[in-house]
Amino acid sequence: MSALKLCVLSSEILPYAKTGGLADVAGALLQNLRRRGHEVHAFMPLYSVVRAAHPELQPVRGVQQVPLAIGSTEYFFSLQTTRFPGTDIAMYFIDCPALYDRADFYTSDPDEHRRFLLFSRAALESCRRLGLAPDIFHCNDWHTAFLPLYLKTLYSSDPVLAPARSVLTIHNIGYQGVMPGAAVADLGLGGAEARLDANDLAHGVINSLKTGIRFADRVTTVSPTYAREICQGPLGMGMQATLRARKDGVVGILNGVDYRDWDPRHDPHLTTHFGPQDLRGKQTNKQELISATHLDGAVSTPLMGMVTRLAEQKGIDLLFDALPSLLLERDFGLVVLGSGDPRYVTFFEGLAQRFPGRVAFRSGYDESLAHLIEAGSDIFLMPSRYEPCGLNQMYSLRYGTIPIVRNTGGLADSVQHFDPASGRGTGCVFNDYDAPAVRWAIGTVLDWYAVPKNWQRLMQNAMAQDFSWARQIVQYDSLYRELLGAPRLN
Ligand code: ADP
Repeated sequence: MSALKLCVLSSEILPYAKTGGLADVAGALLQNLRRRGHEVHAFMPLYSVVRAAHPELQPVRGVQQVPLAIGSTEYFFSLQTTRFPGTDIAMYFIDCPALYDRADFYTSDPDEHRRFLLFSRAALESCRRLGLAPDIFHCNDWHTAFLPLYLKTLYSSDPVLAPARSVLTIHNIGYQGVMPGAAVADLGLGGAEARLDANDLAHGVINSLKTGIRFADRVTTVSPTYAREICQGPLGMGMQATLRARKDGVVGILNGVDYRDWDPRHDPHLTTHFGPQDLRGKQTNKQELISATHLDGAVSTPLMGMVTRLAEQKGIDLLFDALPSLLLERDFGLVVLGSGDPRYVTFFEGLAQRFPGRVAFRSGYDESLAHLIEAGSDIFLMPSRYEPCGLNQMYSLRYGTIPIVRNTGGLADSVQHFDPASGRGTGCVFNDYDAPAVRWAIGTVLDWYAVPKNWQRLMQNAMAQDFSWARQIVQYDSLYRELLGAPRLN
């Protein structure tokens, strides 16, 4: 089949910048699309830490110091490029120090919306100047959600860009890029403001994600269950009606796992490797994890791990009631790695103080420790209130680390509740978002752990799961081709 020309835009792409799953997914998407033979170009903002870490970036001729007005402010951007490591994928970085030389990738600064409006516009402008005419612009989350409308307005008769179609993938509908209505001049829509959501404007807001949902040629999200949840109920977070108004709906494509990074047989972060044929190395990793986090439980004591953003979405509130009492009643250890909301940091710090030697908490972001927790824990806890896809439960399966998940989004699509009678299933799935349910789930898994025959079976089932990108990417491929063959929507 013919190769397509694809332009992927994301506010974070591994290995350049990562705060969460979006970076893993964007990086993997690029590589796997390329492996299928497509011509892939990727755009990202040039954050100051990326500039400092990547001296190999080269300026792109013809796209230097380009003036671009966002409202009444004139910015200048330049394009820098390199090849994505180990590939011939063209990585393009939008260099605009006035907007991206900040301590963090995301800020609460009053010009946050401008940072990403400029990103989308500068990417389009760069393509135009380079004569780069993609078949598809693949946008991700609210940061690039204005691009579809720009294509249909500012660039609708541009000889290079007009034929392109747009896809918007929603990685998390909880983040919508809402800006004040007064920012309308910053959009630079040149007379097409009437296409914005009038009701929102009447309420004094402009919603980036909603604009993307209305104008993208296709909308996808990162699991089939989440696709249903966001159209139907409160998990749509106000976007339900806009999503349902799309005749072609929302396509749910489960994220894949990059098993080059996340497989205990060759995980570059581990000193001892293991696999389903020989699990001895898992015990070595467990011992290493126990030592590294100064726990004092025996290797035979079940050890539960968490690696998470400490955000309300992740279900930490349920643990406030559930964990202290469970730790009093049952014998198990807990290792938590996370960064985020100080409320949750205080909770886990308090738990570690109250249960020394049994609970370890590491505040911050630590890639190597994340891998060791996956490898060395017996159980992985992910009680999310909602979870568009979730990666850690899929990583856990490959490491024989049995996931406890709530029945939502991608968690529901990737973990099957274990039935000791039939020996089928890969983890523990609980339904209700409340403390008794999570208590039941942890208790149930500790009971399974106590029966070696059950546990061996569970681990083998878990490790046999395959969520590789090679399987998932086919669905993006079909979606692009179907879109290119369909009549254009306005
Ligand atoms: P989300 O994108 O909502 O944070 P995902 O499960 O989709 O959740 O992806 C989270 C990714 O970020 C995983 O690769 C996980 O290992 C990583 N991660 C999250 N918090 C940390 C942390 N504190 N240290 C290291 N890695 C982390």
